[in-house]
Amino acid sequence: MPLYHLEQLPFSNSFATLPDGFYSRVAPTPFASTPELIHFNSAVAELLHLDPSCRHQRLFIDAFSARTALPGFDPLAMLYAGHQFGHYVAQLGDGRAVLLGETTNPRGERWELQLKGSGLTPYSRDGDGRAVLRSSIREYLCSEAMHGLGIPTTRALCLIGSEDEVYRERIEPGAMLTRVAPSHVRFGSFEVLFYRERHEAIAVLADYVIGHHYPDLAQLPSPRRYVEWLAAVVKRTAHLVAQWQAVGFAHGVLNTDNMSILGLTLDYGPYGFMESYDPGFICNHSDYHGRYAFDQQPQIGLWNLSCLAQALLPLMEVEAAKATLETYQDEFNRHYQKLMAAKLGLGEEDQHGAQLVHELLAQMQQSASDYTRMFRSLAGATDPASLRDGFIERERFDRWLHDYHTRLRALGRDPAQRRAAMLAVNPKYILRNYMAQIAIEKAQDEHDYSTIEDLFRVLQRPFDEHPDMQDYAEAPPDWAGGVQVSCSS
Ligand code: AMP
Ligand code: MG
Repeated sequence: MPLYHLEQLPFSNSFATLPDGFYSRVAPTPFASTPELIHFNSAVAELLHLDPSCRHQRLFIDAFSARTALPGFDPLAMLYAGHQFGHYVAQLGDGRAVLLGETTNPRGERWELQLKGSGLTPYSRDGDGRAVLRSSIREYLCSEAMHGLGIPTTRALCLIGSEDEVYRERIEPGAMLTRVAPSHVRFGSFEVLFYRERHEAIAVLADYVIGHHYPDLAQLPSPRRYVEWLAAVVKRTAHLVAQWQAVGFAHGVLNTDNMSILGLTLDYGPYGFMESYDPGFICNHSDYHGRYAFDQQPQIGLWNLSCLAQALLPLMEVEAAKATLETYQDEFNRHYQKLMAAKLGLGEEDQHGAQLVHELLAQMQQSASDYTRMFRSLAGATDPASLRDGFIERERFDRWLHDYHTRLRALGRDPAQRRAAMLAVNPKYILRNYMAQIAIEKAQDEHDYSTIEDLFRVLQRPFDEHPDMQDYAEAPPDWAGGVQVSCSS
């Protein structure tokens, strides 16, 4: 089937067919200044079956900067609430985003398109409805990086800049990002209904989500349908967090309103990839108590699922909800161990693997080893003994290496094949904060978007060699430690 021209993109908004009380219809607000296309994601255009040459059309920029509506656009702001840093906040909702609707590609995949940074909505509270270029670049790059790493995530079709002034700690340019995901429903979308005692509405939203996104469960009778669905969300969330832990990603703001009902990484704020290995790593400088520290994420995943389960109690027995939540820890542990074993080239269900991983991580913490570079070096090294100089207790590393080699020999895998498999799961490139910072400063100061493009290309294929981009695989420069990331966006 030929690619869709922009004007032909089939578009509708199924969320808008839900009855009142799940959203507010609201038109997005264009910038006062002339918008400019900063980056276009051809890979996402391909998902939508959209002809990538549309990037050159004025209509494209206008449509995704709220100046023009394409046929079928039916913009609305979704209602949700959520637990923020452990406290229930009764009303949040899309305060600076609007859901335009969804398009379905010829493979039958439905993709929602949402403008982020598109002005005031009924849920804006004290905010201005805008997003700054800085945080939009960070989201744009990181969501593609996560996809490149094989981690479920929202993505983005394009990033559009403006000369509009947005007031944060200082004045910054405003931007708009077109976020793309099968669904933007969050745990908090259910919590708001539960706390308002709209129990029938919980079933309506659950059936909407199940019907569109968990179709295998749609025919099951209630309450089994809901219990199995919760089990599926528990499993996806456990696997998502396991993937974050394995790659060294800290989300930063794991409030329940930032938890996707599809188990996607959602809402990129002050996230960070671990550099020196430190389990207590806090990437959000406003998270004073470390609630969302790296090593807290697995248990926060469960805590957030408990909030979701509570909101679903009108649909199931409390015992069924509890039993379902109890599957989380096992799902998480098994998936995490499997991913870590694969990083070391060990068998999937290797009992000894857990011990080897544990001891290596302990040594990496002691020596402040760079998480990504150490695993990549182990993967690529023909002589891993050369890595011993990076460790404080070299004999301890020697002992670990001896045990590791013993284990590898026992598994009897062909060394070349094992190395190739390890290189395919240990990324060479991650999005370090300093890298995003270079892209941001060039974009802000010089309207130079070449670093965004360079990083985009590398991060889409983080396991490959990119000889022209070797610098980004090296240890971060000295000034990188000074890059601080706050919640402000
Ligand atoms: P976040 O911390 O980005 O997950 O946002 C938490 C809540 O605040 C959500 O309801 C957002 O829509 C809202 N919000 C964040 N920034 C703004 C803003 N600049 N204007 C309006 N609402 C905002
Ligand atoms: Mg959010």
